[in-house]
Amino acid sequence: GDELVEAVHRIMNHADERRRMEVRANADNPDDAARARRFGARGIGLCRTEHMFLGDRRRLVEDLILASSKDERRAALDALEPLQKSDFAGILAAMDGLPVTIRLIDPPLHEFLPDLTALSVKIALAGDTASSRDRGLLEAVKRLHEQNPMLGLRGVRLGLVIPGLFAMQVRAIAEAVAERRAAGGDPRAEIMIPLVSAVQELEGVRDEAERILAEVGVEALIGTMIEVPRAALTAGQIAEAADFFSFGTNDLTQMTWGFSRDDVEAAFFSRYLDLGIFGVSPFETLDRSGVGRLMTIAVEEGRATRPGIKLGICGEHGGDPESVHFCHEIGLDYVSCSPFRVPVARLEAGRAALVSAEPESR
Ligand code: PEP
Ligand code: MG
Repeated sequence: GDELVEAVHRIMNHADERRRMEVRANADNPDDAARARRFGARGIGLCRTEHMFLGDRRRLVEDLILASSKDERRAALDALEPLQKSDFAGILAAMDGLPVTIRLIDPPLHEFLPDLTALSVKIALAGDTASSRDRGLLEAVKRLHEQNPMLGLRGVRLGLVIPGLFAMQVRAIAEAVAERRAAGGDPRAEIMIPLVSAVQELEGVRDEAERILAEVGVEALIGTMIEVPRAALTAGQIAEAADFFSFGTNDLTQMTWGFSRDDVEAAFFSRYLDLGIFGVSPFETLDRSGVGRLMTIAVEEGRATRPGIKLGICGEHGGDPESVHFCHEIGLDYVSCSPFRVPVARLEAGRAALVSAEPESR
């Protein structure tokens, strides 16, 4: 037993010494962050903040969506901010001294609202006694209905449509950083904007974030996901406003192939296997064609604009062995994957560095 454990440690250390890419984890809470650290993650590459708004906090999000005046909106945001601040404090504590990329909220909006049918039934049953809140919610659900929510009001689009939402999150991050620093810690937050497809979307958000960081007196990198094909194709412009890129290959694959990421095991895929177009599914492994080609373009364009730009990946491919090799080949600085895949990613990142060094060493 002990010998085996020791052998594994030796192999992992060997891989760690060789690899050029860092390995981070995707984690949304302090427990997952701590687990990722035990598995050898050197930071968090993706903290999805939308999960922090479910449960009891749904009501506060509804308040925000129902707000009909600036004051009501302000009150809803003020109620959310201290909760977010403590979320971020916990994660920064678990990853003290290592980078933590916090992604601003990115859910399809409908995930926050009650189900249309359930709400309609509730109101119908209540008749005249239905609450004005429920009536307001029903109106909002209808107004915000989308045929394709995954291609709708998510990510940066939500930040543009709900004034103050991103600012609230940035302020919570900034204050969590300031407090931890004052207490002698070493918090390293990075702020990431999701679903960007044009530099103009990023510019306003970045200016506002920089202003808030300066007010609070802390610094943080501000970067973007590259997960919409147009973002990859205009990466040279987007890099003007981004300190880092993180490839969101879940969305990038969905939007490049036009296959829904929610139906990864579509029955008709078997026809595609016969044709040799891909292996198990287009979501399995990155290669130079298609999605990987878009990534290569974005890497080249991003570096041309901003030579020091930091480049990573936080889609599921970040923990897929072959894709880790691909990420090394195109020059990414880090991969980020689920905590349990961190050891495999460390190993493969080390092997990728060895393989690419081989021709010279022979
Ligand atoms: C992605 O799209 O690859 C990604 C990491 O973001 P999410 O899965 O949260 O959409
Ligand atoms: Mg995404």
